[in-house]
Amino acid sequence: MRAAMERITDYKVIVIGSGPAGCTAAIYLSRANLAPLVLEGLQPGGQLTITTDVENYPGFPDGILGPKLMDLMRQQAERFGAVFKMEQVESVQLIGHPFTITTDSHIYECESLIVAAGASAMQIGLPSEKALQGFGVSYCATCDGFFFKNKEIVVVGGGDSAMEEATFLTKFASKVTVVHRREELRASKIMQDRARGNPKIQFILNSTVDEVIGTKEGGITSLKLRNLKSNDVTDFATQGLFVAIGHTPNTQVYAGQLELDERGYICLRHPHSTATNIQGVFACGDAVDHVYRQAVTAAGTGCMAALDCEKWLTHERITERWDLPVGEEDRD
Ligand code: NAP
Repeated sequence: MRAAMERITDYKVIVIGSGPAGCTAAIYLSRANLAPLVLEGLQPGGQLTITTDVENYPGFPDGILGPKLMDLMRQQAERFGAVFKMEQVESVQLIGHPFTITTDSHIYECESLIVAAGASAMQIGLPSEKALQGFGVSYCATCDGFFFKNKEIVVVGGGDSAMEEATFLTKFASKVTVVHRREELRASKIMQDRARGNPKIQFILNSTVDEVIGTKEGGITSLKLRNLKSNDVTDFATQGLFVAIGHTPNTQVYAGQLELDERGYICLRHPHSTATNIQGVFACGDAVDHVYRQAVTAAGTGCMAALDCEKWLTHERITERWDLPVGEEDRD
């Protein structure tokens, strides 16, 4: 049994998540003298820490490495008094004040909460995929690409992530095959062109992975690929599988308290606010956004959440238009 955990009441505002949304919220909150606690989770810095070059974040004309960008954001927040702790949130109690946040090592009380918990890589859902995770199946080219030097590997997915992973993996692999379930790729033209122009990358379209063949001892040896047009299943020899098929929001611990949509993204009360269905709880970044999902948009909504939170704390804890049902806020 776990020993009783220390209860900490030092922080008026807690930010859950330390990606661009959480860090930007922390910068704004700390500059407003609210010195927030940022609970970083198991992946401090969020998804950008497992990417390489970030070429589309404004202000860096030559690009910047994802981990470096996140380190700079964190330093900027710490400079003004934000406190970062590498703790994983296990449960929250958001009904009534103060809110309580239970992590793997402490219980925190706070008056206001910003949820910037981000999203995680989606899995195909095959038992063989699960069994071989870390033994040839990966969700992060930056983390694991090095282990596939001079090997032939497969990337599953047709979006920007898949193109980015495939292109990056050609630095290591001798051949990269992108397997996508449709004829058309979803990726932006520039990312598609880059991948298509790379002589190490080939495409198998209209196909899915039915099974991953291999062992923990020997790694992956092949994949069973199903052609969705002919329904034929063939063995495709490969030594690695990188799954890049999108993300799912990290919002499970809020279910039943925060209003979530059918995919688990946090619902906001109003398009021009980060307020959730619970007064004093604000949400931003990829935990909310399944449309744009960019570092810069996450940072923007992190700023909004901090401003909304500050306003809520200083103006009698009333959020304008609060009590109207969702959808009726615009009817003045
Ligand atoms: P995404 O755009 O949602 O693409 C996911 C891809 O995986 C789609 O091609 C989808 O197929 C496929 N897929 C989904 N579930 C699957 C399954 N169970 N089995 C097989 N295939 C499956 O996700 P993303 O590529 O991660 O990109 C997310 C967002 O981040 C986008 O807005 C993207 O622009 C952005 N992003 C930008 C950059 C960059 O600019 N450098 C890099 C990475 C990501 P269908 O097409 O058939 O649905």
